[in-house]
Amino acid sequence: MRSLRAVSLLWLGALAAAPLAATVRITIVNANEAGVGFNDATPATPVGGNPGTTVGQQRLNAFQRAADLWGALIDSDVEIRIKASFEPLDCTATTATLGAAGPATSVQGFTNAPLAGTWYVVALANKIAGRDLAPTAPGHIVARFNSNVGTTGCLEGNSWYYGLDNQHGDQIDLISVLLHEFGHGLGFLTLTDPETGEEFLHDPDVFETHILDTSTGTHWNAMTAADRKASAIRTGAVVWDSPSVTAAVPNTLSGRPTLTVTEPAAIAGDLPVGTADFGAALTVAGVSGDLVAATDAADAAGPATTDACSALDDAAAVAGKVALVDRGTCFFTVKAHNVQAAGAIGMVLANNVPDTSALGMTGDDDSITIPVVSVTQASGATLRANLAGGVAVRLRVDPDHRSGADATNRMLLFAPNPVQTGSSTSHWDSSAYPHLLMQPNNSSDLPHAVDLTLPLLQDIGWEAAIPPPTGEPRGRVVEATRNETPRAVGPRP
Ligand SMILES: [Zn+2]
Repeated sequence: MRSLRAVSLLWLGALAAAPLAATVRITIVNANEAGVGFNDATPATPVGGNPGTTVGQQRLNAFQRAADLWGALIDSDVEIRIKASFEPLDCTATTATLGAAGPATSVQGFTNAPLAGTWYVVALANKIAGRDLAPTAPGHIVARFNSNVGTTGCLEGNSWYYGLDNQHGDQIDLISVLLHEFGHGLGFLTLTDPETGEEFLHDPDVFETHILDTSTGTHWNAMTAADRKASAIRTGAVVWDSPSVTAAVPNTLSGRPTLTVTEPAAIAGDLPVGTADFGAALTVAGVSGDLVAATDAADAAGPATTDACSALDDAAAVAGKVALVDRGTCFFTVKAHNVQAAGAIGMVLANNVPDTSALGMTGDDDSITIPVVSVTQASGATLRANLAGGVAVRLRVDPDHRSGADATNRMLLFAPNPVQTGSSTSHWDSSAYPHLLMQPNNSSDLPHAVDLTLPLLQDIGWEAAIPPPTGEPRGRVVEATRNETPRAVGPRP
C-alpha cells in the first residue's frame, strides 16, 4: 500500500477566465506521491485555456475547473473536499476505466436527515446537517483517474485533453469525465450491490427511493434483495421516478433513433438502435434505402467478409444503399469509412455478441457524413436472413418517443443483462440521446454541462427544502465505506 500525502491545494487564480462564483466551495486534495499524477513534472504546453506548464499542473487545473463548474450549480454551506489522484486503472488497448469516483463515506441519522435509516452520501448529508460530519477525512469524495491512458496497452493512440475549452478533437476530454465522476460523488449512485440486490449494510439509500421497476410498480427500497437482483437486469423497465426529472425530459432528449423496416411486411416495424458519436445526425425525415450486405476480403484487417474492415469488394451493390456490417476487429469509424467510400448512404452495424439493447458507438472522424446506427445481434440476424428477398429501411428519429425515457417520459436507468458491476443502475440508460453526462460510457460530444443530473440531485436533497433545525442530532450518525463507480470508455471495435 502506498502512503498517501494529502495536501490541500489552493486555487492559484492563474487562469485568464474569471473564477466562477461558487455556491459551494469544492477543494481538490492532492493524494498523489511526489513525481506522479498531479505532481508529474513532465513539461507541458499550455492548452485550451489551461495555463499549466507541467502535466501535473494541467491535471490539477482541470480538476479545479470541474469542481468550480459543479460548485456554481449546487448549494451548501459546508466545503466539499475531493481526495483525488491519477494512478494506473483497468485498461486494454481499446477500452479503459477513465476514472472512478464516489462518496468517501455515506451517513444516516444526522441532524435534519429527511429519511430515517437511509444512507446519504456525506457531501449531501453535510449540506443537510449544516456541518462537516467527517471533519478529519481527507475527502468527502474520492476520485481516481487513469494515468496510463495513451501508454502501451492502454487506449493506445489516445490521450487525455487537459484544455478547459472542450476543444478536445479526438482526445478524451478530462473535464467531461470529471463532471461525470463528481456527479457520482454528489450522490448519483445507489450503494446497493446490483449483483446480489443487497443494500449497503442492510439499509436503503436515498437514491433507491426513486428507482422504480415499472414491471412490478415497486420502488427499490420497498423490495427484497432477491427482487432488486431481478429488477437490476430488467432492461427498459427500471426508471427514475420523480416529477422534476420527468418534467425536464422533453426539453432534454430528442426523439428516439429508430431503424424502421418497411419491407418485407413479415419483419416490418421499428427497431431500437444505438447511435454513433460520428457521422450525420439522424432526422425525422430520415434516410431511406435498400439494405444490402457489405462484403470485404477476409484479411489481416479483419477476418470476416462481413466486418467491413477493408475496402469493400461489392461497392457497386452498396452504392446508393444502406450497408449492413458486423461488429468486430476494427474501429466503428473504419467500417463507416469503408462503406461510405463505396457510396453507401447509411450504415447499420449488427452486434457480434448477444445483447439486450443496441450498442452506442464511440469514435471520432469528421470525414464520415453518412448516418450510422447499430442493432442488436438478434435484430442483425433477422435483417441478414431476409436480405435475399429485399429489405427496405429508414434510419430516422421517431418524434413520438423520447430517446432514453419510457412512454410517460420517465428516464430509463441503465439495467443491462447481465449486470455490469459499478455501472448498472447508477447511470442513465445508454439509449438516452442526445448523450447525457451520467450515461455509463463517455461520449465525445458532451458539452460542459450537467443536463438532467441537477434535477436528479435536487430529488435526493440538494437544494431541497430543509426542515428547521431541531437543535439535537436525530439518532446515531453512521458512516459507511466508500463506493466507487467507474467511468468507462468504449466499446470501441
Ligand atoms: Zn459513472
